[in-house]
Amino acid sequence: MIRSVVIVSALCFLFISLFLLQRQEAGGPLVRARMLMGTVVEIKVDGPDAERFEAAVTEAFNAMERIERLMSPHVPDSDVSRLASAAGPVRFAPETLEVLQIALEVADVSAGAFDPTLGRLVRLWGFAEGAPRLPEPAEIQAAVAGPGTTGLEIVGRLVSKESPHVVLDLGGVAKGYAIDRAVEVLAAAGAGHAAVNAGGDMRLLGDRHGRPWKIGIQHPRQPGNVLGVLELSDRAVVTSGDYERAFEQGGVRYHHILDPRTGYPADRCQAVTVVADHAAIADALATAVFVLGPESGMALLNSFPGTEGLIVAADGQIATTSGLREVITWP
Ligand code: AMP
Ligand code: MG
Repeated sequence: MIRSVVIVSALCFLFISLFLLQRQEAGGPLVRARMLMGTVVEIKVDGPDAERFEAAVTEAFNAMERIERLMSPHVPDSDVSRLASAAGPVRFAPETLEVLQIALEVADVSAGAFDPTLGRLVRLWGFAEGAPRLPEPAEIQAAVAGPGTTGLEIVGRLVSKESPHVVLDLGGVAKGYAIDRAVEVLAAAGAGHAAVNAGGDMRLLGDRHGRPWKIGIQHPRQPGNVLGVLELSDRAVVTSGDYERAFEQGGVRYHHILDPRTGYPADRCQAVTVVADHAAIADALATAVFVLGPESGMALLNSFPGTEGLIVAADGQIATTSGLREVITWP
């Protein structure tokens, strides 16, 4: 099923590219797309002078590619892979260290609902490999046993793990961080109105010349329909949903956001959307809130000043922070 999703994504990518090339000829915003981090990443620069940012857009894609090379468990010499196979300390790039610090902070404030050391469990379910399967209960129990984040030691840029059971997985935060890096590249080049969209997770730089950006939130149970539309400028929007990578077996939906306490997919939410200044923190918080569920998740969102969110509970009930109500319209 995941393989067909990848093929459909690649086809979409091709069509989007052709469509955008045509649109570019007719003038208007500069829009470019690339396949990165397992999804279509689209960068849009708005405004009449958008074309002068062509090189900056390429540089922004390259910055995201570098983050993927550093943090992907599927790149053999990424920081994450090197730590997995090392017996001793591994020197991390400053970017990986920064992402790890964000991950550990969110692990801390979510009482371990977000856990960047779940690599063994994530690998066991096989979502990222494109061949997900329902593991045996004993395998799951073995994969969740271990010290968690306390099994990591960081001294300067050197990271080490207490035992082979501690396997780093930054899949819940790295995409957001990559989006932030791309936005920084665009801003440094002088772009003031741009959007970096990685498969629905995005960060907006400025507005659309006096108008806010309009961002549709995917309905978790109605593919192709929006749940609501956000009007935002200068913010990041990230969604974690149980429909993103999932398979069904015996009438049960199994998906890629795992509850560290049980080792099974978290079952309290259908989707969580977080709005924050940075995509990295929005990404980690969306995953954390999804695992925590509507009540503790809302409390966590409210404890982060300037962070807003929308939670769709497992029964379909929708809850939003007060600030989100000011920027959302319902269809
Ligand atoms: P996201 O789509 O941002 O919610 O992240 C889901 C990805 O994060 C999964 O594909 C795993 O790589 C990883 N992950 C799954 N469960 C957790 C968790 N409880 N804490 C941290 N990362 C997780
Ligand atoms: Mg996330």
